[in-house]
Amino acid sequence: MKQLISFLLFVLASPRMQAQTSSKKAFIIKDVNVIAMTSPNNGVYQATVVIKNGHIESINGAVPNDATVIDGKNKWLIPGLIDMHVHPPTDFSLKPGMPTGPASITFSTQDIMTPYLANGVTTLLNLNASMESFCQRREIQKGYALGPRMALAALLNGGTGTGRLTNTSEQGRQAVRDAKQEGYEFIKLYSQLSAETYIAIIDEATKLGLKTIGHIPDAFQGKLEQAFVPHFGMVAHAEEFSKHAKDFTDQEARRFAQLAKENGTWLCPTLTAIVQIADQARSLDGLKSLPTLRYVHPLLRSKWLTANNYNKNTSLERVAYFEKLINFQFHLVRAFKEAGVPIVAGTDAGVSGVVGGFSLHDELELLEKAGLAPEEVLASATRLPASWLGIDNEVGTIEVGKLADLVLLDANPLDAITNTRKISGVFVNGQWLTGAKLKAMLAELAKRNLDSKGQYDWKRLMGK
Ligand SMILES: [Zn+2]
Repeated sequence: MKQLISFLLFVLASPRMQAQTSSKKAFIIKDVNVIAMTSPNNGVYQATVVIKNGHIESINGAVPNDATVIDGKNKWLIPGLIDMHVHPPTDFSLKPGMPTGPASITFSTQDIMTPYLANGVTTLLNLNASMESFCQRREIQKGYALGPRMALAALLNGGTGTGRLTNTSEQGRQAVRDAKQEGYEFIKLYSQLSAETYIAIIDEATKLGLKTIGHIPDAFQGKLEQAFVPHFGMVAHAEEFSKHAKDFTDQEARRFAQLAKENGTWLCPTLTAIVQIADQARSLDGLKSLPTLRYVHPLLRSKWLTANNYNKNTSLERVAYFEKLINFQFHLVRAFKEAGVPIVAGTDAGVSGVVGGFSLHDELELLEKAGLAPEEVLASATRLPASWLGIDNEVGTIEVGKLADLVLLDANPLDAITNTRKISGVFVNGQWLTGAKLKAMLAELAKRNLDSKGQYDWKRLMGK
């Protein structure tokens, strides 16, 4: 125990983890092209943006004389990006039998969050949060680690599946009340819920002011329309509709879009996850040579490579099925766009091959490929998710008074969405991280991940 305490003290005192509360400092971004992502999207060319106390103080307003100047010439400023479907690892997410402890011992919060920041991702929605996710969030809030702001959802499931198991309406309602009490902001609905429990959960969550997002439970097979009850907030994968498809036609895609539209239910397609899954069903070669694998914690990396359920017992039929799913999901995205259903970007980061931060840019490209215009793609990762999360008074657009969560780009993302990868620097909560700083953080992370050679050395970590 003594060793644990001294280890914790060491972690808290080490310079890497120390509070970086420089957000009180003022910054001026000069001559920058601002893509505000308001609706309509107001662009301001060669603007002067002042950032102070973690907020956007002015755009083309008075300029303080004690501020750090950032040259924004020929650069583009966009709101910090939001990933609406992530699973950042915490010790709690380990399987039974593995040692557990505070969030930061196995999975250093900084190491988990660095790839997000390096990719301009400043807000996350964690769709299967645990008590340790609250620890992760608190570490970031306290300034012990630099990372995105995080919204946390409690996962409610039925049968004998994973998550909090609720098999009657009353259990479902109680689980929602518990989650609210524990501080969760959202409810994730999962596949094994009975129809009755699912409906009770959505009703209770609505009463308590919690939005719902999730899978469409298997219980609605053959009666999909009955899942679209009032306040079913968002479908967490386009795949949820594919599971209910019979003929995979455009007409069917349009019918699904209409169901969502009439119910006010949004869509988070997570195309990048299904593309990765299909690739791994074919072979693990792509995953093994993934350049971003070095930014994945060795434990997770080893799980992806050695216990890969998508590749295990794979068959040609399975690969063909995944290909059919992908094709249909592209049609779904287009049909939802045409029906006017808001679409948000989410990756399912944590699924094998879906690397936090980097994968959001993959998702943006896939959404463009599916038929969204670059501005619609950008809205799917900025204004729209901020609005769904209920934090659009703070983030999601570049407006005076909002939090300084910003990404400075070397090229215009409205010309080509791939330009969101050309990151010159990131503001998170008013703190400026230069491109060089972010590269150094990534390099350090890669080195640390490599040093541990994929082996999880609990004794070494505990100082035994
Ligand atoms: Zn997920």
